[in-house]
This record gives sequence, C-alpha cells and structure tokens, in this order.
Amino acid sequence: MTIASALLDWYDQNARELPWRRDKDPYKIWVSEIMLQQTRVEAVKEYYERWIKRFPQPEDLARAAEQEVLGYWQGLGYYSRARNLLSGVREVCAVYGGKVPDEEKKVQALPGIGEYTAGAILSIAYNQRTPAVDGNVLRIFSRLFCLQEDILKASTKRQVYLLVKEHMDPARPGDFNQALMDLGAMVCVPKRPRCGECPLTSLCEAYARDVQDILPLRTPKKAPVEVVLAAALLERKEVYLVRQRPDNGLLAGMWEFPAVEVLANTTAEDCLKTLLLNELGLEVSVGEREYYYVHTFSHRKWHISFYRCRQLSGRLKPEQGRWFRLESGEELPWAGPHRKAADALRCAMKNGF
Ligand code: SF4
Repeated sequence: MTIASALLDWYDQNARELPWRRDKDPYKIWVSEIMLQQTRVEAVKEYYERWIKRFPQPEDLARAAEQEVLGYWQGLGYYSRARNLLSGVREVCAVYGGKVPDEEKKVQALPGIGEYTAGAILSIAYNQRTPAVDGNVLRIFSRLFCLQEDILKASTKRQVYLLVKEHMDPARPGDFNQALMDLGAMVCVPKRPRCGECPLTSLCEAYARDVQDILPLRTPKKAPVEVVLAAALLERKEVYLVRQRPDNGLLAGMWEFPAVEVLANTTAEDCLKTLLLNELGLEVSVGEREYYYVHTFSHRKWHISFYRCRQLSGRLKPEQGRWFRLESGEELPWAGPHRKAADALRCAMKNGF
C-alpha cells in the first residue's frame, strides 16, 4: 500500500461535498481557494454561492466595479484578496481571452496567486502534477515523515513540497491534493489527530513513535501590536462623514468614519480635532464616547472608540471624504469595526435614540 492508494481509497468514500467541487472550472476553483485563505469552509460556502450567482464567468467579474466586488466580499476580511482576484481575472480576460492559463509560470504571475493556489488550480482543473501545500498539508506530512524542523521555515516547506510531489498519484493529482485537504480538515486535525480513523496509520512515522500530538513543530508567533484609535461620528442632518482608506496597507480602499491613532501622551479629543481640521478641513468639538470595539488582525489589535462630534466651522475637502446617509440602502465596504459602528448607529436611529 502506498500513501497515494490509501489516501485515494479513503477519499473515494469520504470526500466532502463542496459547492466548488461540482465541476472542474479553474475560475471557480480560483475563487474558492482565495476565499478559503484565512476563512473556514463552512463560512465560505455561502459567500461562494452568492459570488458565483452574481459573477458566474470570469467576464462577469472583470466587468464589475471594484466597490460592488468588495461588497460581495464584505465579512470575509483581508480585502486585498478580493482586489487581487479582481485584477487577476481582468488580466485573464484581457490577455488570455477569459481562460485561466494552464502553465504554472503564467498562473503564478497573476495577482494574488502563489504556489499553493496555482497548485490547486492546475491539479484540480488541468490534472497536472502540482502540489498544493498549505498548513494542512504541512501538518500531515510533518507527521507522516516525523519532520523535526519548524514547519514555518522555507526549507521545511520546500521539503514537504518535494515529498508531496514524489508521493502524489500522477493519474489523479487533483484528487490527491483534495484528499489531503479533507484529511487535514477531518482526521489529521491540529489538536488530537484522529489516528483511529486515518487511512495512513500504518504509513505514519509520528503514529508509530507516538509523537503525533507534538508535531508539527513551530516557533511561537509574536503577539499582535496593540493600537489605540479614535473615530469621529460627525453627523449633519442624518448624514455621517465617512472617508476611504488609502489604496495600500491594512484594509486598503475600505470605508471608515474618520479615525486616527491615539499616541501616548495625547488624548482622543485632541487627535480627532487635529485630524478633522488638518486633513478634512473641519473644526469640530468632540463629545461622548459612543462605542468601543476590539478588533484583531494577524499583526495588530485595534482598540477603537467612536466619539460623537459636532461641526463648528469649515467646509469638507471633497477629495477627503463624503457625507453618507446610513439608511440610504447603499452598503459601503466598511473597514473592520467601522461596520459594527454603522450597524449600531442604524439600530439606534431605528429605535429613535
Ligand atoms: S496516523 Fe494520525 S498523525 Fe498520522 S497522518 Fe494519520 S491522523 Fe495524522
């Protein structure tokens, strides 16, 4: 028995039914793989179905406005993924006539596609022998071969890539990669792997040595940096001041209530007044704190407070922001916790507060 035969026999009986597995369309596999980065399968299903209903073909997505596309991504987070997907699909339409290329170099040259996503697309849609090594596969192979190196190191990832390539079934590379995804999700899970249900038990070195619970090895992550922010809820006749974040960096291009980092030895009030005057052209007074949220990204943890503000004088610099009616029915792609504040304001308005 080989790893491939044991794994594929198991997969034939136990494969998960997932909406993106209904056909082998490279565009759909691409969309699903990008959505699945950082997001659980169960959560992705609904987003994926809505997305494919609205953008069934690459051309439908390529023609759509970025703001609409980001709206369909709202809630999945890490919006640069949606932006890259959009520009990648536009490139596919402009350069390759709407057909995702089947050459590894060309696929990897598309925005947002790395080795893993290229491997998934090429193996599943085009039956090519290309590994798709993600965290699941790193974990499974580090256990199967009892690897003693940190799995986050580039050299370990390379080692696993080569092991997967060596062991994958040349006749069914796409199924082999998907079987690993399923095994990692259902059996060889991060904590307490279910070795009793695993088709690879007799081939697994970690199981033989009873070290499956301590593998894979990894160096601990750094804690995220704590950032204190203040945001202005500046209302004028039931419309609120909002602005778009810069095109680069965290939550690029998303919408927010004007917000600023509150550095040590300053106050939220002073920081907000300075921000609104210098960047938006408005003199304001700062009132009560209305909402407070904690929002954790991979490297940063925001502590953000929203303050009621009142305009005293000045005129909004139009390139810096806009007045937005929360109940207009238009949904902005909000930046992280700003959506919570917008929802809370809507709720308060509905209840007459
Ligand atoms: S035997 Fe256990 S540790 Fe080894 S691959 Fe299977 S589930 Fe993972």
